[in-house]
Amino acid sequence: MHFDIFTLFPAMFDGVFSESIIKRAVEAGLVSIALHNIRDYAPGKHRVTDDTPYGGGGGMIMKPEPIFYAVEAVLGPQPDAPIILLSPQGRLLTQRIARELSKHPRIALICGRYEGVDERVRQYLATDELSIGDYVLSGGEIAAMVVVDVVTRLLPGVLGEPGATFEDSHAMGLLEYPQYTRPPEFRGYTVPEVLLSGNHAEIVRWRRQESLRRTWQRRPDLLEKAPLSEADRAFLRRLEET
Ligand code: SAM
Repeated sequence: MHFDIFTLFPAMFDGVFSESIIKRAVEAGLVSIALHNIRDYAPGKHRVTDDTPYGGGGGMIMKPEPIFYAVEAVLGPQPDAPIILLSPQGRLLTQRIARELSKHPRIALICGRYEGVDERVRQYLATDELSIGDYVLSGGEIAAMVVVDVVTRLLPGVLGEPGATFEDSHAMGLLEYPQYTRPPEFRGYTVPEVLLSGNHAEIVRWRRQESLRRTWQRRPDLLEKAPLSEADRAFLRRLEET
């Protein structure tokens, strides 16, 4: 997977991409990331990348030319990679969208700044628009880091254990069950007996039920779309009755 990130602040990515899973994925050749400074593609001596909005109002808008020139120079005239504009107005990033994105060999991410980007970038350059939540960030850089992170950990070979992501929260439409590790008792706080039992079938059943319970308590909206078995539905009915 190759990520092309278009930003006015490439140095923001240094720490995030040089640690832990993303660093290891890059070192293993599973991921490559190219940071492109939009300012380098701005025409004119002063390399201006923003201007005041037509129609008035506060703040500055990112000009279209530097962004078009940057993306076209890097991806070529007929790119087949998704060109994603990070925007609070985009479709909300979910685990399902992350999985879709992980199937592409290359993804381009455009980070906005200031009051946003000229609308023509969205209309005539971007092929998709993603938001990481219903709030407004100061820029698209943190959102781009989020996209790189969620997509990278889904790529085959990135996480040690194959299938490690399948039980993550949201992967199967539910929140994950509670997790514990050693010691079995800490300050009198204990680990559920079943997890120490060695009974694999019982552990699987307990985890499924706790996953359902947690989703029912915290995100009941997810249950409407989650694939549920008859046993799951019966368990949820019992929860409703208690
Ligand atoms: N005025 C814009 C609006 O109301 O839609 C918001 C501009 S915001 C201050 C600057 C940039 O941050 C945006 O162009 C976008 O790239 C990024 N951004 C802000 N919130 C975001 C979010 N929730 N998800 C993804 N990107 C976001």
